[in-house]
Amino acid sequence: MTEPPARRLLLVHAHPDDESINNGATMAKYAAEGAHVTLVTCTLGEEGEVIPPGLAHLAADREDSLGSWRVGELAAAMKELGVTDHRFLGGPGRYRDSGMMGTEQNHRPGAFWSADPDEAAAHLVEVIREVRPQVLITYDPDGGYGHPDHIQAHRVAMRAADLAAEPAFRRDLGEPHTIAKIYWNRVPRSVAEERFRRLEGQLRHSPFTAPAAVADVPGVTDDERITTEIDGGPFKAAKAAAMRAHATQITVSEPLFVLSNELAQPLFEVEYYELVRGGASAEGTIRETDLFAGLERVTDVAEVTAL
Ligand SMILES: [Zn+2]
Repeated sequence: MTEPPARRLLLVHAHPDDESINNGATMAKYAAEGAHVTLVTCTLGEEGEVIPPGLAHLAADREDSLGSWRVGELAAAMKELGVTDHRFLGGPGRYRDSGMMGTEQNHRPGAFWSADPDEAAAHLVEVIREVRPQVLITYDPDGGYGHPDHIQAHRVAMRAADLAAEPAFRRDLGEPHTIAKIYWNRVPRSVAEERFRRLEGQLRHSPFTAPAAVADVPGVTDDERITTEIDGGPFKAAKAAAMRAHATQITVSEPLFVLSNELAQPLFEVEYYELVRGGASAEGTIRETDLFAGLERVTDVAEVTAL
């Protein structure tokens, strides 16, 4: 039996592209360091708006074939990041993009937003018990910015982490596993504000015309809540390339990018997190620079060979 990599990281996201925007540098860094990086994407992003006019026919209100197209975009993005283990929750197409909050699509059959969180979590429990990650990354309870699929991804990820550890839950899905550390995606408010101050000047040298606002950036929060920052500097190009692979959703012109609303946002090469479960409770002092910090005992050989 070949031993699995000692460090194993699981990310749970709502749509293809969220992983590259939020965690592209982090994923590339850990993959390059030999960690096992697993991405679980909950929907195919079928309701996304399409940027390139030549692909407009894919949209949900026309051919409704954007989902399968985005499976290809995600695969190309993962290649850029060096991530080989990427899956869709319950298999591709099991859950459908719910669209923006308050739209009809929220209640369409198969919409992720109308899924039973426990039932959806069971699919993730199976992945957790198979991969046995020490670290999980997902969104905060608001999903970063209130999108129904992001809120649901948060609920499902947190629920699955609990259920995976529960010995009485569905032993047919594998041996119980406790995830040692859980993080939520964050951006410190001071960093977001500083980057938006520079954005006006950067805009003039870009193909974009209008700026987004700090409020458009998911997960912005008070600096005190940030426990961890991952310097993705060396992986900035990989992150930008992964974002470019999601061409129906993102246009990149470093150091900026736009979504379909065409409002320019900064591309963050440092990625920030709030540790919400596990790890040392260092009273708000120095930020961690490694998601696996403090887990040496968990990742030792004894634990790995016990799998
Ligand atoms: Zn999304």
